[in-house]
Amino acid sequence: MNALQILQIAAIIVIVVLLALSIVMAEKKTSKKKEKKTIALIKCDKGDYETKREFKSGDFVGKVEGECPKCKGVLRVYAIFVEEIESHK
Ligand SMILES: [Zn+2]
Repeated sequence: MNALQILQIAAIIVIVVLLALSIVMAEKKTSKKKEKKTIALIKCDKGDYETKREFKSGDFVGKVEGECPKCKGVLRVYAIFVEEIESHK
């Protein structure tokens, strides 16, 4: 084995290690990007308005949330669920 062959093998090893590292880094990045948020879905009793906001402690399904901006009816917490948000910023 001459020096050139050793260099070539070393270069291949370096490339393989860099590729493996970049795959690991990419996976870390994607897992960091995904954010889990607990969301409360707010709906008007008459169904003409709905909105989402982040879950607050003390929230429960059926809780009166306020007044509908459209029909002045009652807004209630309709559902509580976990949402995975991917931030592309
Ligand atoms: Zn309404």
